[in-house]
Amino acid sequence: MARKFIFVTGGVLSSVGKGIVTSSIGLLLKSRGFHVEAVKIDPYINVDAGTMNPFAHGEVFVTEDGGETDLDLGHYERFLNVNLSKKHNITTGQIYLSVITKERKGEYLGQTVQVIPHITNEIKDRIRSLAKERDLDFLIVEIGGTVGDIEGLPFLEAIRQMRLEEGENNTFFVHVALAPVLSTTGEQKTKPVQHSVQELRRIGIQPDAIVVRTQRPLEPEARRKIALYATLPERNVFSDHDLDTVYRVPLVLEEQGLPGLILSKLGVEDPGADLSAWEEFVEKITEASKTVNIAMVGKYTKLHDSYISIVEALRHAGAWLGVKPRLHWIESTLIEEGKQDLGFVEEVDGAIILPGFGARGVEGKIQAIQAFREARKPLLGICFGMQLSVVEFARSVIGLKDAHTEEVNPNTPHPVIHILPEQKKIGQLGGTMRLGASPIRLVPGTIVHELYNREIVYERHRHRYEVNRDYIDSLESHGMRVSGWSPNGLVEFIELDRRMHPFFVGTQPHTEYKSRPLAPAPLFQGFLRALLGGG
Ligand code: GLN
Repeated sequence: MARKFIFVTGGVLSSVGKGIVTSSIGLLLKSRGFHVEAVKIDPYINVDAGTMNPFAHGEVFVTEDGGETDLDLGHYERFLNVNLSKKHNITTGQIYLSVITKERKGEYLGQTVQVIPHITNEIKDRIRSLAKERDLDFLIVEIGGTVGDIEGLPFLEAIRQMRLEEGENNTFFVHVALAPVLSTTGEQKTKPVQHSVQELRRIGIQPDAIVVRTQRPLEPEARRKIALYATLPERNVFSDHDLDTVYRVPLVLEEQGLPGLILSKLGVEDPGADLSAWEEFVEKITEASKTVNIAMVGKYTKLHDSYISIVEALRHAGAWLGVKPRLHWIESTLIEEGKQDLGFVEEVDGAIILPGFGARGVEGKIQAIQAFREARKPLLGICFGMQLSVVEFARSVIGLKDAHTEEVNPNTPHPVIHILPEQKKIGQLGGTMRLGASPIRLVPGTIVHELYNREIVYERHRHRYEVNRDYIDSLESHGMRVSGWSPNGLVEFIELDRRMHPFFVGTQPHTEYKSRPLAPAPLFQGFLRALLGGG
């Protein structure tokens, strides 16, 4: 079978849910036995997402090979249960960097280097070589942003050309657009969808299917109108309405026959899907009857997408334990400014101390850590959250009053968290942290070892600072144990002795990145079990 490309574009608004539609199509094809992956195209000029503010763009998703990518890659990995790579996130920055580097080397000698064909060729090359390298049956290509954005045009032009070059039978275009409901009349309005399809056609792309994001299932009249204006049969218009969980979206699209339509257009026989494990997971989410209350302590709490993999990891673990995690977002800056008291510690079952960077909100996090440690309520510190747990312990338990991380106070007399000499030398900020997956040896007899039930695990990192080895003896003799080491002696996990606290665990890697619906991350399972009182 020739390699097939499915292109997903978006209309009306960004954040309309293209990532979930892309992931869902991926899952539906994969559950038919096909080899499928997805690539995200981001039309911004940053080379990667690593240098962007999580407030604006949400979480930076780190791949196994250390790529700092768009959060949509997290959806792809979770739905498709695959490990993707840096190459699965293409940005305008990467494309131009590579074309300009080639131009300087003289690779286009004598030519005028232009958007068409040089930029568009570079885009097409990357898409094709990824599909070839990974030996895929299907590559789903999601174009970020909204049709009509100036920065997206070269990418749309590239995929328009791909239809011509790969052939009708090997390309499928899905357009995802929003049909808003007017609060005054309750009517589903289709005009914005009509306009975005017109815009797509003006560029030369005729969609093969429209997926309509709506609050309620798409009404027959709305479907009829959209089909008519998009020059499509009504059965090519799909309803992607609000659901109790995004994990149900693939099931709803399957029911309406989207994968069947894609396969028949592409001339591939439909072997039928086995979705039983996925259905079971979705049922478990719906049926979960217990609730636990979790304080999510961090400084980007206004945009919950900043921590999306952590939230999803809690959902995955919760589903299989019959628990719905109820999240209470606590802005640590308010604690340190005295605008939020610590009363919430009493009201919740436990806390996650979230990852982060920089000084703002740090003392608020440290106060929260102390309160949860003293109240003996379960705590999971992630990355910066782990580092600050070490700081809090050094200050309150060991008595090192001004202990700190060098990130916040470079002159602290007790740098319990410090920067390694090799990181200090680095002048450039993009892509220079400790990034990606590496092996960790777990220490037998620890909570973390028990949860993984393995000697060696691979988890993904994104940080610059480390626990200072000079303080390990002191930490351990006071009851804080190291439960995981990197091969070159970096601290990966810490925990309090069970006699001091039922569940106080810190993790330097972001284990949330590898949590999957059908394979939840062990630390999150352990944390939730502890919240249920199971230890
Ligand atoms: N700021 C810390 C460091 O760079 C932690 C980073 C994080 O939480 N991702 O080491």
